[in-house]
Amino acid sequence: MNFHDSRRIEEILTAAGHEAVTDATRAELLLVNSCTIREKPWHKAISETGRFRKRKSRDHALLVGLVGCVAQQEGDRVFKLLNGVDFVISPDNYQQLPAVIAHLQERGKPACITGFDRGEAEDFLGVQEVRSHEISTFVTITKGCDERCHYCIVPSVRGPERHRDADRIVAEVRGLVKRGVREVTLLGQKVNAYAAGGVDFAELLRRLDDVDGLLRLRFTSPHPRHMTDDLIGLYGRLRTLCPAIHLPVQAGSDRVLAAMGRRYTRADYLRVVEKLRAREKDMAISTDLIVGFPGESQRDFEQTLSLIGEAGFSSAFSFMYSPRPGTAAWDLHDDVPLVEKERRLAAAHVVIDASERRFRETLPGTRQDVLVEGKGRMPGQLTGRAGNFQIVNFTCDRPFDEVCGRLVPVVVTAINPNSLEGRMA
Ligand code: SF4
Repeated sequence: MNFHDSRRIEEILTAAGHEAVTDATRAELLLVNSCTIREKPWHKAISETGRFRKRKSRDHALLVGLVGCVAQQEGDRVFKLLNGVDFVISPDNYQQLPAVIAHLQERGKPACITGFDRGEAEDFLGVQEVRSHEISTFVTITKGCDERCHYCIVPSVRGPERHRDADRIVAEVRGLVKRGVREVTLLGQKVNAYAAGGVDFAELLRRLDDVDGLLRLRFTSPHPRHMTDDLIGLYGRLRTLCPAIHLPVQAGSDRVLAAMGRRYTRADYLRVVEKLRAREKDMAISTDLIVGFPGESQRDFEQTLSLIGEAGFSSAFSFMYSPRPGTAAWDLHDDVPLVEKERRLAAAHVVIDASERRFRETLPGTRQDVLVEGKGRMPGQLTGRAGNFQIVNFTCDRPFDEVCGRLVPVVVTAINPNSLEGRMA
């Protein structure tokens, strides 16, 4: 989400006559795009912004801005936390960046713009410019979240749920395909709860599947509670829908899931996994996990470990719980000591690695359709992703320009730590 937002910021500023530089020491404007999902990235955003402030003491014309979720969370408190910050702008207000910068360049006062838009058509502007050889991109379809999981700060910093008009989404995807994009990842905090003008998420996928020239559809992040049978039934049926899903589970114990306000049980989650695998037997299912949520006992944690094995995750992101202000869990006693959280995280990593290895070990000898995105590191090698999201570097006797942006059948020959190797079938 933040990566996509950074692209939008760059485009908004480029259109206003600014130029992006790769060397920060040459920049006249420094922006920190921040995340506050856990305590650690919050600290990182504040300390990064503070680091830039030191440069400002030598270069008075330099402008420093904080954008992203910390901007929405902290608002003008940022000016008290950090001297030398010129502006604070939250995600729904990026269109105002050029005006704020122009105002500051004329020695205006520091500015703070936060709050949420209403989700009107113009509030969903996507990336306008497709870079050369950019095969895959993101399209935002929903903003905000009304789910209010007890640990999650997203509803406070990204606002209430707003859904974009389906015709406009389809039109944006058509436009992207005309400009060379072949794979689209639909974005939303609770993407599969999409519903606008009588069109639900499954129907939106069906409409996008009809877009000529689009080869692949992905989405992130779905909520297990909104994995309807209609949606699951599209796997293996829609031409473009990839056999891969990132489906956050967060915990394996019903007690902890209830305390987190996730509104499904372990059995509900595993039923969804089973149904998905019934549609696509080799489906790559990845997840997010939180360890050390308040009240999580050793027995609860062991249920998370056993769920990893049972679900057969192809990968998982795991994090230690950190209390976030403004969430329902903020008032709970954070009773799992840090050292125990660290131990559980390390134990989870061992089980996740094993699950990941088991998934990848099934791949050598299989044929995967790889969407070619670039040249590999070795001469004669090309690179791209398989439908299951694995990066595949493969040898190919066709020139790059001929196959770039196309699906190429590849036989997997080896597994490397972060990728697969193969040859064109
Ligand atoms: S569904 Fe996701 S974004 Fe929404 S509150 Fe829960 S964890 Fe946060």
